[in-house]
Amino acid sequence: MEAQRELELKGIGVSPGIVAGPVLLLKSDDVPLPEYAISAEGVPREMLRLEAALIETRRQLNEIQRRVGEAMGSESAGIFEAHLHVVDDPSFVDEIYRDVREKKKNIEKILFEVAERYAQTLLQMEDDYLRERATDIRDVTRRILRNLAGGGGDLLAGLESPRVLVSRNIAPSEMAAFDRRKILGVVTELGSPTSHTAIMARAMELPAIVGMPGICGRMADGDRVILDGVRGILVLHPSPSREEDYGRIARSRAVIQKRLSGLKEEEAVTRDGHAVVLSANIEMPADVDAVWERGARGIGLFRSEYLFMAEAGDPGEERQYKAYAEVARRIMPESVIIRTLDLGGDKIAVAGKIQEDANPFLGWRAIRLCLDRPAMFKAQLRAILRASAHNPKLRIMYPMISNVGEVDRANALLEECKAELSASGMAFNPAIEAGVMIEIPSAALTADLIAPKVKFFSIGTNDLVQYTLAVDRGNDRIAHLYEPTHPAVLQLIRHTVEAGRRHGIWTGVCGETAGNPVLVPLLLGLGVDELSTSPGAVPLVKDIIRHIRLSEAQDLAEAVRGLSTGAEILGRCRALVRRVAPEILELAE
Ligand code: PEP
Ligand code: MG
Repeated sequence: MEAQRELELKGIGVSPGIVAGPVLLLKSDDVPLPEYAISAEGVPREMLRLEAALIETRRQLNEIQRRVGEAMGSESAGIFEAHLHVVDDPSFVDEIYRDVREKKKNIEKILFEVAERYAQTLLQMEDDYLRERATDIRDVTRRILRNLAGGGGDLLAGLESPRVLVSRNIAPSEMAAFDRRKILGVVTELGSPTSHTAIMARAMELPAIVGMPGICGRMADGDRVILDGVRGILVLHPSPSREEDYGRIARSRAVIQKRLSGLKEEEAVTRDGHAVVLSANIEMPADVDAVWERGARGIGLFRSEYLFMAEAGDPGEERQYKAYAEVARRIMPESVIIRTLDLGGDKIAVAGKIQEDANPFLGWRAIRLCLDRPAMFKAQLRAILRASAHNPKLRIMYPMISNVGEVDRANALLEECKAELSASGMAFNPAIEAGVMIEIPSAALTADLIAPKVKFFSIGTNDLVQYTLAVDRGNDRIAHLYEPTHPAVLQLIRHTVEAGRRHGIWTGVCGETAGNPVLVPLLLGLGVDELSTSPGAVPLVKDIIRHIRLSEAQDLAEAVRGLSTGAEILGRCRALVRRVAPEILELAE
C-alpha cells in the first residue's frame, strides 16, 4: 500500500511533551438521531433495544463514577449519580414505552422527544435545582443515543492501546473523567492556552495542542500522528525521517527533564540569593501527590470549583470539608490557598450547573454567584474554616473581585461563619488569612483600596489579560491578541505589586504566566513574591529562577518600561532566557 503523504499542521501547544500514536476521533457533539416509522410488530424490538442501551449506559456510568472517584475522591463522583437517577427513573422509561407504542416511531426519535419534553418542563421551574436537572437529562440522553447507535457511551471504552484524542472541543469536566492510561495526548479544534481544558491537560501532564480549526475533518480514526505539545505541531502520517527527528528531540528533552527532576529538593532561589515562593496549582485533592513529586512549596491555588463540577450540584459543607481537610493535612507542613468557588466563564459544571449568560466571562461568575447564594457560599467558607484546624498555613482566597464592596461582604460572611463555628464548638484557625485574586483591571487599579482588607494578592493573569485586552481567553481566532506581555498588563501587575508593598502584603501570580519560564524573570523583576503554576511546570520554573540574578530580572523589568508592544517585550524576555539558560527555551517553546 502506498504510504500516505506526511502533513504538518500547526496549532497552539498548550501542554508540553512529544507523543506518537494512532488517532481516536471523538465526535462527542454529533449524536446520531435517526427517525423512521415502525410497525406494531416492531414495538417489542425497539423496547429491547432501549433496555440494552440502558443497561450499557448504567454500566458505563458506574465505571466512570468509579474512575472519577479514584481520581478525585469518592465524594466527588456524584454527578454520575444524577445521571443514574435519570436512567433508573421508571416514569421516564414508561413514558418512552407508551410513546413508542402509540406513535410507532423508532426508539431514538421517541427517547429524544420524551427527554426534551422533560427537559423543557424542568427548565420552566422556579427552583434552580430542578432547572439544572434538565442538563442531566440531556447529557444522559446523548449517552443512551450513542449506545443505541453502538458507538459506546464511554468514549474510550474498548480501546486496546492508548490514542491521541482529536476532537472539536473537550470540556474540562470531560477531561477529568478520562482514564489517563488510555490517552497519549489531546488535540482540539477550539481552545487557547488559558482555556480550562488546556489547564486541565497540564494538570494531567497530557501533551496537548488546541486551536486547530477543521482538524477533525482532516484525519480518520487510527491515522498515525506525532504530537509536539511544546511547539504546537501535529504531524499526520509522519515519514520515517520525521519519526527519527522527533525521536531525537524527545530523547534530548528527556535528558533535560531528568536533570530538572534532580531539582526537586533544591530551593527556588536566584543566583544572587533571592528566595522565591514557588508553589503549585491543583484542581483535585489527588493532585497533592504531584505537588510533592515536582518539588513545589505548597499549593498556591486550589481551584475548588472542580469539586462542584464533579458533583451533581453543590457538594455541601461536609463533603467539601473532607476534601479540604485531606488537602490541608497532606500538604503539611507547607501551605495551601483554597480559592472559593469560581464557577462560570468556561467552567460550566458538566451538567450546566448555572444558568447560561449571554457573556459568560462577564457574567454571573465566581464571587458574584457566591454572594448571591450566601447559604451555599457560607457552607464553603465553613468547610474551609474547619479544614484550617488541620493546617495553620491554610489560607482562603476570593476570585473575580472587581470592587471593595465584594471583599467586605465576603469577609463579613467569613466572620459570620467563624462566629457560628465558635458557637457550636467547632475547631478552626481564627487567624486564617484571606486574600483576593487580582484578575480584573478594576481590582488592579484599586489595589490600594483593597489591600488594607486582605493579607495577600494573587494575580490571575489568565483573566487579567483577557479583561484588560478584551480578548476571550478561550477563543483560538484571537489567540494572537492574547498577550501577557502587553504593556497595559505589565502596568497593572506593577501597580498591584507596589500597592501590596505599600500595605505590607505579598503578591503572587497564579495564572499560567507563572508557569512560563520565559516570563518568570519579568514577573520577578516586577516584584512578584510568589509564583504558583501547574505541578508539571515547577521544575522548569525553578530552573530558570536558579539561573538568573534578581538584579538581571529587575533590569529587564526596567528596560521594558519604555517599550510599546507586547512582541518587543516578549523578545527581551526571550533574549534574557536565551543568554542565561538556552536549554530552557527548547522545552518552553
Ligand atoms: C487566572 O485567571 O489567572 C486564574 C488563575 O484563575 P482561573 O484560570 O481559574 O480563572
Ligand atoms: Mg481566573
